[in-house]
Amino acid sequence: MNSLDIISSCKDELRDVFSIIDNIALSNQEKVLNAFKNNSIALRHFAPTSGYGYDDIGRDSLNKVYAEVFGAEDAIVSPHLLSGTHALCVGLFGLLMPKDKMLSITGMPYDTIRPAIFGKDTGSLADYGINYDEIPLNNGQIDIDKVCTYLRKNKVKLVYLQRSRGYEWRNAFTIEDLKLAIEKVRTLSNAIIYVDNCYGEFTDTVEPTQVGADIIAGSLIKNAGGGLAPTGGYICGKSSLIAKIENRLTTPNVGREVGSYAGDYRLFYQGLFLAPHVTAQALKGALLFSKAFTEIGYETLPRSCEKLGDIICSIKFGDKDKLIKFCQCVQGASPIDSFAIPEPWDMPGYSNQVIMASGSFVQGSSIEISADAPIKEPFIAYVQGGLTFEHIQIVLKRCIDAISS
Ligand SMILES: *Cc1c(COP(=O)(O)O)cnc(C)c1O
Repeated sequence: MNSLDIISSCKDELRDVFSIIDNIALSNQEKVLNAFKNNSIALRHFAPTSGYGYDDIGRDSLNKVYAEVFGAEDAIVSPHLLSGTHALCVGLFGLLMPKDKMLSITGMPYDTIRPAIFGKDTGSLADYGINYDEIPLNNGQIDIDKVCTYLRKNKVKLVYLQRSRGYEWRNAFTIEDLKLAIEKVRTLSNAIIYVDNCYGEFTDTVEPTQVGADIIAGSLIKNAGGGLAPTGGYICGKSSLIAKIENRLTTPNVGREVGSYAGDYRLFYQGLFLAPHVTAQALKGALLFSKAFTEIGYETLPRSCEKLGDIICSIKFGDKDKLIKFCQCVQGASPIDSFAIPEPWDMPGYSNQVIMASGSFVQGSSIEISADAPIKEPFIAYVQGGLTFEHIQIVLKRCIDAISS
């Protein structure tokens, strides 16, 4: 079969799953629409501000819209949260005090968070005397028995969960997985439940804050920004906790009273409005990549029947050159910088060399189609995003052709 036939037959087989994804997008679109209406969003909310940014209604209303969409009491959404890592760190530093303990129950956190948790002489949580422990995953699942045993014996201030797969060979946790784990933790501990929600937004009809998480954080150049947000991050959750975190975002007692933005806020609002649809495009893309690469003989995740919790497809290449060729092909089929040829490099925040294909309108945006991979055995590429399902199919076709030739 040629690549077009493979893609076409995979699409046929995925029809039922695609229709589930369409329904998720429909539900989320209505949720976002209602939040805009309930907050009377108008053109004036897009206006840029300067200086201290007192009474910046664009900023304040964006916080309210996010809080409603994520079913949370309050939210911080800001272009001054520079990335997902920064949003996650601001939240952790806002909530944890010296001698407190943070426990990750989804194993080792994502690469770029690690130096912030246990780095030496970097201003990490560890440098401030904040303790850290983790319960490794058991076959890609939360080891709830070990978590319970740990919580019975130890006082824990904050329980940390990472929803998406990071650079692990596992699926993302579904909302049901998170709900079960959170309920169990709740019976034994009054710890703050903190979820890294990167890549998880709008993959289901509810968010972790609606199944018991106290705080969630993520990036606006992934799902929630809908491909339009030019930068930024968000933190949503309980108002008492957001009140602490906002003092870390700016300064104690000033919190969100300040913070101007000289760009305009339209792209944050419009991006959120598009996010349910764009996320659905990316989910379909992840499933199609996964199925098509299985057809041509590679091991992939997710397997198409599985319920999704992030927008990523993992492809095990088992071969460094094939992996690099794949990433270069994704770059070449991107709208921006298609002439660039990505190479592995020592990227800040990552422990292995990584190769990243990202020919995106917003630099490094991974809700746009992108592929990245740490250069280590068994040479797994993580593909995500795509603003339109049409573009994703074109990229997929070219990748199959390149890898098979
Ligand atoms: C992308 C990601 C982050 C970090 O986000 P950046 O915006 O790249 O800093 C954190 N955790 C997970 C699981 C991610 O996928």
